[in-house]
Amino acid sequence: MKTLRCNILSVILTVVFLSGSLFAEGEAEGVSPEIALQRLMLGNKRFVKSKVIHPNQNAKRRGDLTKGQHPFAIVVTCSDSRVSPEILFDLGLGDIFVIRVAGNVVDDNALGSIEYAAEHLGSKLVVVLGHSKCGAVSATVQGGEIPGHIKSITDAIKPAVDKAKSQSGDVIENSIKNNAKLVAEKIRTSKPILEELIKENKLMVAPAEYDISTGTVTLLK
Ligand SMILES: [Zn+2]
Repeated sequence: MKTLRCNILSVILTVVFLSGSLFAEGEAEGVSPEIALQRLMLGNKRFVKSKVIHPNQNAKRRGDLTKGQHPFAIVVTCSDSRVSPEILFDLGLGDIFVIRVAGNVVDDNALGSIEYAAEHLGSKLVVVLGHSKCGAVSATVQGGEIPGHIKSITDAIKPAVDKAKSQSGDVIENSIKNNAKLVAEKIRTSKPILEELIKENKLMVAPAEYDISTGTVTLLK
């Protein structure tokens, strides 16, 4: 009996080793919002410690994904070149549905993209990921004349900055946190699809901040 148990254990460990990780498949099927969040945070931990495994980045995965995609999470983040979600969460192809725009703000197109991933692809979690030293937030804090279409981004970030002005501490850092939280709230209260999915516990929205220096993702309360 003991030998049999040992054999089963060694088979399981071999499978885990060969597949790269317990979560190598990265499918949304049967994944709760909490497990989805855990996957992201575990991947970030590997990235911070330089213990990355680069899951789901081979020809087999590419081939499997021709049948369809089921990303387990949606990440809304900034276009900043230092904030690449697949890299900082140590993930691969088909794992996350990513929406990137400077300042990680959301408009109707972004909300439509989130709705598509949550409703049709089965994603269970939305992480709104702001980051330290965000140029879009800094520009909004600075104010003044803002040229062209950049103004539509700073206008969207402005409520977060206005709130930060009455808070103690660093205005830019507080604005970054406020912005991620306000965007998360906008997603949570988006009608009719997202709000309903959240009520049914089929979707969770979590604001977070990425530190471009340490590589750490911290969830915001
Ligand atoms: Zn940014």
